[in-house]
Amino acid sequence: MMRIPISKPNITEAEKAAVMEVMESGFLAQGPRTALFEQRFAALCGVKHAIAVSNGTCALQIALLANGVGPGDEVITTPFTFMATANAILFSGATPVFVDIDPVTFNIDANLIEAAITPKTKAILPVHLYGHMCDMDRIQAIADNHGLRIIEDACQSVKASYKGKYAGSFGTGAFSFYATKNLMTGEGGMITTNDDEVAEKCRLIRSHGMKVRYYHDMVGYNFRMMDLQAAIGLVQMDRLEDMMLRRRTNAGYLNQHIESVTTPTVQTGCEHVWHQYTIRVNGGRQRDDVVKFLDQAGIDVGIYYPVPVHKQKSIQGLIGDITLPMAEKMSMEVLSLPVHPLLSEEDLERIVTEVNKL
Ligand SMILES: *Cc1c(COP(=O)(O)O)cnc(C)c1O
Repeated sequence: MMRIPISKPNITEAEKAAVMEVMESGFLAQGPRTALFEQRFAALCGVKHAIAVSNGTCALQIALLANGVGPGDEVITTPFTFMATANAILFSGATPVFVDIDPVTFNIDANLIEAAITPKTKAILPVHLYGHMCDMDRIQAIADNHGLRIIEDACQSVKASYKGKYAGSFGTGAFSFYATKNLMTGEGGMITTNDDEVAEKCRLIRSHGMKVRYYHDMVGYNFRMMDLQAAIGLVQMDRLEDMMLRRRTNAGYLNQHIESVTTPTVQTGCEHVWHQYTIRVNGGRQRDDVVKFLDQAGIDVGIYYPVPVHKQKSIQGLIGDITLPMAEKMSMEVLSLPVHPLLSEEDLERIVTEVNKL
């Protein structure tokens, strides 16, 4: 019996050919393909600017710096995310302030944001987890009322939408093209914005503060993307609609047939892109037992994330011992099943059969 993986790099002959073409062009580092990838990615998200970078983590960090976030500032975010979200805030010099989550969407609970605002708050950093967007009407209203910047962690949510607007188009967006993401380049990232000034700053921070070669207007990093990565990204963009449809169809099938556990829902006005298909193992069942059972049935699962950010060793010394009950509860209940585009009909049937035995 073949094991069903939780994710699988989705590479066709077209990606391989695109990489070979770059190899033969002699232009490996940031060049014309990166520029084209940026242009097409901006159009995909419905924004004015897209800036390609090395990965999603530095996309977040550059986005924060370009919005003026730094030492002494506070950034409101979710504790139920990949550590990169918090690390980017910490490396900008600011302090993350964690607000508990909504157990239906697993995203930051917008009702709790206002109580966390202090005179030091500079930005809100919502994470569109698993491919489902946050409550952006509420978050936008709060940001407008308090003069706060919005930086969206859209690393799992390329082309997800909220009331017809795409992820990364509400504030400054940060995307990841890591190998398992919905659109991948191996490693890679992108920043999106409609703000000319923020875009200009992002470009400078990406490459040593240089607009003109060897003239440095500000302090910067080397966070550039290679044309090799951009060439893969361009092919993946051509295939994105098809890959998205497969994820959506797979999630629809699982939602329709799984009866034994709490399945994920989609909020009105939202389009889910199903980076993860996440169930909740509750009602007295132990998640460890469920993981073992599915493992023996040949089904790989993922736990995103087993420890919430505010409980991680690396951050405890900085923020002390705080309690965020819903994030802590969800970190014990969530379990992601395979939903990726390479699943066969038989794979899906097997997943349903085994999960319904729980
Ligand atoms: C993948 C991911 C990141 C980091 O992206 P990298 O490209 O791996 O640096 C940040 N936040 C979230 C929510 C992610 O899923």
